[in-house]
Amino acid sequence: MKKTYKHLETKVVHSGEPDPRIEGAVTMPIFQSATFEYRGEASYDDVRYVRLNNTPNHIVLHKKLAALENAESAVVAASGMAAITTALLTVLHAGDHLLVQECLYGGTRDFITGDFPSMGISYDFIRVEDPETWRSKLRTNTKAIYVEAISNPLMEVGELKQVVEFARASELVSMIDNTFASPINFRPPEMGFDLSLHSCTKYLNGHSDVAAGACIGRADLIERVLHKLNHLGGVLDPHACFLLHRGIKTLALRVRHQNDSAMKIAGFLEAHPRVQSVNYPGLESSDSHKRARSFFDGFGGMISFEIEGGLAQTRRFLDRISIPIVAPSLGGAETLVTLPATTSHVGMSTEHRRSLGISDSLIRVSVGLESADELIEDFDAALSE
Ligand SMILES: *Cc1c(COP(=O)(O)O)cnc(C)c1O
Repeated sequence: MKKTYKHLETKVVHSGEPDPRIEGAVTMPIFQSATFEYRGEASYDDVRYVRLNNTPNHIVLHKKLAALENAESAVVAASGMAAITTALLTVLHAGDHLLVQECLYGGTRDFITGDFPSMGISYDFIRVEDPETWRSKLRTNTKAIYVEAISNPLMEVGELKQVVEFARASELVSMIDNTFASPINFRPPEMGFDLSLHSCTKYLNGHSDVAAGACIGRADLIERVLHKLNHLGGVLDPHACFLLHRGIKTLALRVRHQNDSAMKIAGFLEAHPRVQSVNYPGLESSDSHKRARSFFDGFGGMISFEIEGGLAQTRRFLDRISIPIVAPSLGGAETLVTLPATTSHVGMSTEHRRSLGISDSLIRVSVGLESADELIEDFDAALSE
């Protein structure tokens, strides 16, 4: 009997698992084999070979990830960037035009601005909270619209539902990077997005010990992404598949804890006299709060804020905190803090960052799995005179 599961807590554990279990194994074994015996496969993409993303470890993940976002299909890749670049190159060809969110993940931004011109693909930046900016830039050769669920590092949530409606009406492929929200807080295919992209290096794996990516969505598009990935070669190694699979089993527990902790920490920061501003979509003061509340089930574990006194006070704060680790990346067990101006957005000029509202002293926090009360005590001590 084909089993279906209703709730995310059950899906992360049971969806996509082999039935019957392999040799009765309760957890998915690692198939560390590059090639598999020929069974009469007729097409290249069906030959069982590790780069073709069809080992048992890949197949389980594809089914589980599709189930988590209530999507038709999914494919894993060697990193978030492998998933994103492969998906973009599947949808766009020479002569095509892309509408893309201006405040983007650095790697994605560099790929679009650095590599698209030589491939003959054009693009225009849009503001996701302002539909006029995308309506006015639509061209006859526009093929796709690309946005992020929660923007980095200002944690803004755009008019995502209108993006889907606009894409439908204009016959564009709608693409969204859902890394910051995770499937626990937001499932873009349910809203009608065609492709949902993830850096599984972050929340999906959740332990800061693997690089992986995923593309989830419409079956016809995912099949094309998979074939492109088979050619470009960004395959996830079976052992990395195993680690990602193991990480996903605790996704719901982890993300819900992180949602709760981030809400408490954001509230603490907002009330602190030495904190100038806090960006967190869970705060009622956030311009994104209404949209985040209507689209998402939780507000996520990412916060950014500014301390009074500029860069000198910011550096003092980073020297004084003792629990968080000063490091890039996010979504793991350990609370990480970073200055976007020196990490994710270092490729932009100070003026450009400023025009997007990112000051050099903005601090970004990825809330981990520690006690929220202990993190708050630590932040409070670091903020004191
Ligand atoms: C980290 C990240 C990526 C890139 O993922 P990698 O796994 O590092 O390749 C893409 N988008 C967002 C929002 C990210 O945070």
